[in-house]
Amino acid sequence: MLKAKETAVTGLTKGIEGLFKKNKVVYHKGTGKFLSPNNVEVTGLDGKVSVLKAKNILIATGSVPSGFPGIEIDEKQIVTSTGALELQKVPKKMVVIGAGVIGLELGSVWQRLGAEVTVVEYLGAIGAGMDSEMAKAFHRTLTKQGFKFKLGTKVTGTEKLSDGRVGVKVEAAKGGNAETLEADVVLVSIGRKPYTEGLGLENIGIQIDERGRIPIDQEFRTHVPNVRCIGDVTYGAMLAHKAEEEGIAAVEYINGGHGHVNYDVIPSVIYTHPEVAWCGKTEEEVKKSGAAYTVGTFPFAANSRARTNADAEGMVKIISDKETDRVLGIHIIGPNAGEMIAEGVLAMEYGASSEDIARTCHAHPTLSEAFKEAAMASYNKPIHF
Ligand SMILES: Cc1cc2nc3c(=O)[nH]c(=O)nc-3n(C[C@H](O)[C@H](O)[C@H](O)COP(=O)(O)OP(=O)(O)OC[C@H]3O[C@@H](n4cnc5c(N)ncnc54)[C@H](O)[C@@H]3O)c2cc1C
Repeated sequence: MLKAKETAVTGLTKGIEGLFKKNKVVYHKGTGKFLSPNNVEVTGLDGKVSVLKAKNILIATGSVPSGFPGIEIDEKQIVTSTGALELQKVPKKMVVIGAGVIGLELGSVWQRLGAEVTVVEYLGAIGAGMDSEMAKAFHRTLTKQGFKFKLGTKVTGTEKLSDGRVGVKVEAAKGGNAETLEADVVLVSIGRKPYTEGLGLENIGIQIDERGRIPIDQEFRTHVPNVRCIGDVTYGAMLAHKAEEEGIAAVEYINGGHGHVNYDVIPSVIYTHPEVAWCGKTEEEVKKSGAAYTVGTFPFAANSRARTNADAEGMVKIISDKETDRVLGIHIIGPNAGEMIAEGVLAMEYGASSEDIARTCHAHPTLSEAFKEAAMASYNKPIHF
């Protein structure tokens, strides 16, 4: 598996280098540092230093895992996502700190390979940011698969055990009930923070905000007008496709055009099995906005393709405005949810109503019929449930 991963990563990154060449992008392998708003010093991997001059500069330095105070990461036994993607054998017991996307995805990888996984989460629910009805369903699904969860629980530290393993000290978030969880591997996945170390922002007068992000305006400009910034190192969701949209929009602005990113419809996917995917608003957000709404759901257990594949866990949930029927949010747990959400994103991008989706012909037998039926349920009633 690790070899397959390595082959995929190498192939894809080499592909990018090929695209650079094809599009006449010069790739300097090294670390960049601002000397002035138009000059970047590059220390190459070979140690050679050069200076690049540019009219426009785009910062896209990404993010790094947030550390846990007092817990030392060695990327072997106490790991971030980086180490969790390189474990040389399946740990017998794995403790995951943080039930966010990365913790659940990587916990799920090792759990499906045989590890006994316990996830410790400070909050009372998993999948931070998910629609809470879906989060509860996802929690049930993962528990059925063998995941153990300690919600409303905080980690207070780790210790080396006499048998060489790690003890993770936890207690109820509200205090009390302390215990130590034993683990062969501990994954620390409590979030990521913007990365600007050594970038020389002080040399051009850019100040990061209280969360370490580089502030930008609507056209991705930093306080220095010819220096723009996109991706994880600035505002918004830390997602590759969001960074990509921003990169294109920022360059369109540089070229005198008008860039556009619709932040209301950026899909999120959790690559577990089944997958989880959503876009638009959660039911809690719609409720909070005060809008009257309807909810349509459809279970994969009533979908012919899912049943035939014996992979029918999960459901589709569509939230629509009660008055206009416009779709406000789409939430899916199920096989191939990450692919299916594309249809939802497209529908929302074009301002579809749930009736629009329901009256769109979907091929039979496909998983996407569950999506259509959830839309039918939202504006009227589904046929097969
Ligand atoms: C385990 C994991 C799984 C993820 N899964 C998904 C997923 O399934 N889908 C998804 O959408 N997102 C996913 N993400 C998030 C996604 O990787 C990021 O949102 C995305 O890569 C951000 O793009 P970016 O261009 O802002 O930064 P990055 O892709 O992080 O790129 C920043 C680059 O800048 C380089 N750099 C930094 N400082 C300097 C400097 N001074 N000089 C030169 N180079 C520098 C870094 O080495 C890095 O190569 C995942 C992240 C992790 C950690």
